[in-house]
Amino acid sequence: MSYGAMTCADLEFFLGGLAWRAVYRSCASNTYTALCMSYQHLLAELDLGFTRLRNRVVMGSMHTGMEDRFWHYPKLAAYFRERAKGGVGLIVTGGISPNREGWLLPFGGTLNSVFDLRNHRLLTEAVHAEGGKIALQILHAGRYGYQPFVVSASALKSPISKFKPRALSVAGIAKTVRDYARCARLAQRAGYDGIEIMGSEGYLLNQFLCPRTNRRDDQYGGSIGNRMRLACEIVERVRAVCGERFIVVYRISLIDLVEGGNTWEETVQVAQALEAAGVTMFNTGIGWHEARVPTIVTSVPRAAFASLSARLKASVKVPVIVSNRINTPEVAEALLAQGAGDLVSMARPLLADPEFVVKTAEGRAQEINTCIACNQACLDHTFRNQRASCLVNPRAGRETELLYRPVPGPQAVRSVAVVGAGPAGLSAATVAASRGHRVTLFDAGASIGGQFNLAMRVPGKEEFSETIRYFQSQLQRHGVDVRLDTRVDPALLALGAYDDVIVATGIVPRRPAIPGIDGPNVLSYVDVLRGAPVGARVAVIGAGGIGFDVSEFLLHRAGDPLPMPRDAWLDEWGVDLAVRERGGLKAPTPAQPPREIWLLQRKAGKLGMGLGKTSGWVHRATLARNGVKMLGGVSYREISARGLKIERDGAQDWLEVDTIVVCAGQESLRDLHPADGATAQAGGPRYHVIGGARVATELDAKRAIREGAEVAAAL
Ligand code: FAD
Ligand code: NAP
Ligand code: SF4
Repeated sequence: MSYGAMTCADLEFFLGGLAWRAVYRSCASNTYTALCMSYQHLLAELDLGFTRLRNRVVMGSMHTGMEDRFWHYPKLAAYFRERAKGGVGLIVTGGISPNREGWLLPFGGTLNSVFDLRNHRLLTEAVHAEGGKIALQILHAGRYGYQPFVVSASALKSPISKFKPRALSVAGIAKTVRDYARCARLAQRAGYDGIEIMGSEGYLLNQFLCPRTNRRDDQYGGSIGNRMRLACEIVERVRAVCGERFIVVYRISLIDLVEGGNTWEETVQVAQALEAAGVTMFNTGIGWHEARVPTIVTSVPRAAFASLSARLKASVKVPVIVSNRINTPEVAEALLAQGAGDLVSMARPLLADPEFVVKTAEGRAQEINTCIACNQACLDHTFRNQRASCLVNPRAGRETELLYRPVPGPQAVRSVAVVGAGPAGLSAATVAASRGHRVTLFDAGASIGGQFNLAMRVPGKEEFSETIRYFQSQLQRHGVDVRLDTRVDPALLALGAYDDVIVATGIVPRRPAIPGIDGPNVLSYVDVLRGAPVGARVAVIGAGGIGFDVSEFLLHRAGDPLPMPRDAWLDEWGVDLAVRERGGLKAPTPAQPPREIWLLQRKAGKLGMGLGKTSGWVHRATLARNGVKMLGGVSYREISARGLKIERDGAQDWLEVDTIVVCAGQESLRDLHPADGATAQAGGPRYHVIGGARVATELDAKRAIREGAEVAAAL
């Protein structure tokens, strides 16, 4: 199999090997533009015969929460309009159920009657006004639905919903096919350019396709020919009611990553049958939601699964959309150039930066606000039933609410000092300057980024450097006066005669009062992440996000390549891209931890419960696989040369460790604020305190960046 000048093996090497790392490094450094490409593949039109897409960028489906409530449709329209204006070729909406049984949540979004048309037209008209195209995703959740009407191929409960499904009868299947067709036809009447049928991630159609969930003995169960009958009938019926001049995307699961998933041969058979049934193009999905292999979090190597799309592309004639962990135009362009797909799907990267495409086309790729795959404001919100937004772009999902209006005239320009160039200060400085204010940004350190400079040293979080690179580009673009190596005090502020002072000085690590805490064997997480020597047996005090990160950092061996090469990552998680066994799983490589680690917290119960819903399990699994002992309900009694004395369940014990690392949370640093809660002197500057400086408890970068943007939007 060959892709232009490259073979499949070359492509795998390119993505997992040196060339890829060169691109990665270049993105994180000032040499970024030196390796910039022309993006000719990514920006090329796609002629589908009956319609054209203006480029190869597909905004993949992303549930925002706004689709579920009719009163949110004007906001949803504004959200899509910004992405269409930013140049996306094809937008796919969040999942809309074809009927009540298919709801993901009670009263989820539907398009099953003419009364829904008005709301949906708001979306299609907004996108078309900006020259874009939009497809409605039809998603039937099957047994993943979190509501009592759930149905599936067989009556088998999923591990991620408490509701046991009812097995669809043959009549129920026929009705489901009609419901899909009705939804597609209504989508066409609402002005959508097409639909995407969600056939991956373990939803209903996947549940019919795989023996894991399909135990039927009728014409819809047993052989793969029977298991794919429902998907084929749906595509045929949709094509029949919508005609030939309508985009029908089918999102197919390329690797299920669960036992009882399909084999590669079956997947190809399904794809070819769906192609014959009338699919316009395939989007690709990786892994079921219940899979215990991460597929999109930060630690997943970029484009880790792209070789599977390349294999599918070789087996079908219609275009294939490559997906998963593609978040820069360099990676997207390289994938298309090497034949891994015909289009690239990016969902979260378009949340992070609606102007991704236009910046790429204008040679401003270094200005893209890159999605760092943290899931903190998008998927974690969705799972908590909150509106999705984005950690690095707090305007996402709030396009009509958080407005960065240009200052109305020269007399409205304010002179603003921002103290602290961490995420909060960077966000405030860049938004204020983009509006036209005169901004001076100070930091005591030698570089911008604040704690993100530590976060990016954690294995799997290297991409946090992208956020610093983005802010650097914005400081330059908007002419912010940046003064590094400058510790600000009240006298320095007085010299500047500022109208506004934004205090974004962040935090100081907490040092708990444990006897012996000042001993030479005690380090703070800051010391450790900056490279202080750490012994072979370690106790980590505090199991918040940073305690987990530091433990992962300590499992890394000096000299191991970072970011982790794709093949090593696949071996670690037991993924076989050849899909030799059902679901593409294999035995994971046994861990060989370089250290013995105890991760401790005072709270009783399981550790890491405060971590994100969609990423916490990955951190817990990584530590567990590496033998990290995670203990809750611990009291710290004493530290000495012997180690750390703890008490647990009434019994005292010495952990005989070489090093104790303190990750016990943080306290606000806001000594610059004239007086906590008091207003500043009359005639003096207005003070605003944001980020960690305002409240250290439960601080994360999502809040820091949002507070910076909000304060600057209101100046
Ligand atoms: P900071 O980032 O602390 O920045 C404050 C800045 O102010 C510093 O650069 C400091 O030098 C400067 N400063 C202080 N005093 C002065 C002065 N007098 N004059 C001039 N400059 C001064 N958050 C997440 O949301 N997700 C994560 O996955 C995540 N991972 C993390 C991993 C690690 C290892 C660490 C350490 C943090 C992580 N965080 C994460 C937390 C996140 O980095 C912080 O919430 C965020 O940095 C807080 O932003 P801030 O701007 O308020 O403060
Ligand atoms: P944190 O999440 O608040 O955790 C602090 C830990 O220290 C807790 O385990 C706490 O547990 C313990 N602790 C608190 N006071 C203590 C004391 N006096 N003595 C001993 N232990 C004490 O804070 P963090 O880990 O420093 O992280 C800071 C912020 O960064 C967090 O809000 C987090 O959201 C963010 N972050 C997020 C991620 C992520 O993956 N999303 C990663 C890193 C950081 P007990 O009180 O039970 O002992
Ligand atoms: Fe990406 Fe994180 Fe923003 Fe989600 S919240 S879009 S994962 S940067």
